[in-house]
Amino acid sequence: MTAPIHATPAAPGRPAGVAVLGSTGSVGMQTLNVLSGLPERFQVAVLAARTLSPALLAQAERFRPDLVAVSAPPPPGVILPPGVHLAAGPDAFTVAATHPAVSIVVAATSGHAGIIPIVRAIEADKIVALANKETIVCAGELVMSLADERGVSIRPVDSEHSALWQALDGASPEAVERLILTASGGPFRKFPAEALANVTADQALAHPTWSMGGKITIDSATLMNKGLEVLEARWLFGVPLARIDVLIHPESIVHSLVAFIDGNQIAQLGLPDMRLPIQYALTYPERLAGPWPRLSLATQGMLTFEQPDCDRFPALALARQAGEMGVTYPTALSAADEIAVEAFIAGRIRFTAIPEVVRAVLEAHRPDGPLSFEAIFATDAWARREAARIVACS
Ligand code: MG
Repeated sequence: MTAPIHATPAAPGRPAGVAVLGSTGSVGMQTLNVLSGLPERFQVAVLAARTLSPALLAQAERFRPDLVAVSAPPPPGVILPPGVHLAAGPDAFTVAATHPAVSIVVAATSGHAGIIPIVRAIEADKIVALANKETIVCAGELVMSLADERGVSIRPVDSEHSALWQALDGASPEAVERLILTASGGPFRKFPAEALANVTADQALAHPTWSMGGKITIDSATLMNKGLEVLEARWLFGVPLARIDVLIHPESIVHSLVAFIDGNQIAQLGLPDMRLPIQYALTYPERLAGPWPRLSLATQGMLTFEQPDCDRFPALALARQAGEMGVTYPTALSAADEIAVEAFIAGRIRFTAIPEVVRAVLEAHRPDGPLSFEAIFATDAWARREAARIVACS
């Protein structure tokens, strides 16, 4: 982390206010699970989701936040619990992320819609616990320099980046020889190339070790998820892409490693349970007791590692290329992937067409000027249209 790290700022004896953006998603629900175990430390001040669903209403009833924020118009006649305010509309996530009762924003939405609320949270000096990949993949250069400028800390929630953060323990990028991100390899790790063309969405959605949302599970099966994580690691830790490796580790126990210039390597281990990195991001620099099951290496037995196969899983190399080309190429990559994954889940393209769609969009992309938020959003819209066009023609 290049930004100075602040301790969680709560007045003594008063719990810190937390905004959970994307509270009804997988990471959002696990965040609420962690927060419900630490009521003396944290108060759920804001819940935000796309729609005012029964799940969000149940969360509002249980946690009684100051604010519930939804980006879609709420259904008529819905009544929130007493004392809970409602913000609705396109700016609702920004209102949520900058709410005065909030000191920590857990950014657990997926997609490009997460970027602006996170930028506003940084400008409002909130601590950001970041699970939204697009913010750093697309806008890492802009967001990290803004965070540096404001002295705001961005704490990774993704298990691999949490592992790197913990293993680095404040070491400078110059002390790092390599960052090594582990990947489970997904459900098709052992599939021959010919068989990959015929795998179904149901097969791809059955992740061997992690339980996650649909998009990220497909991205894990193509290894695009790992490619996006390499791009994130570069900005989060200030280490060049050429010094970031991927290592397949099917058991998902070693969550990543740092190889230092003196030959020492430090790894972080744990059961594949998102509540561990979520709680660490919330309580940093403290470690508090957690009620979850413990890793026993004796019970676990063998841990195995292998090189990723970039021929069968070309998404990894595509992500790296997009990162090397810079500017808005990572945005084009991530937006095209979102459309291609949707088309695969809907049965409109084959599994192996996902990276082909992404490659075609990258090849057609022509960045327009230097990196800016405007350029990112324009590229995002263009890449979605271009990917949809390619899907329709295939
Ligand atoms: Mg991850």
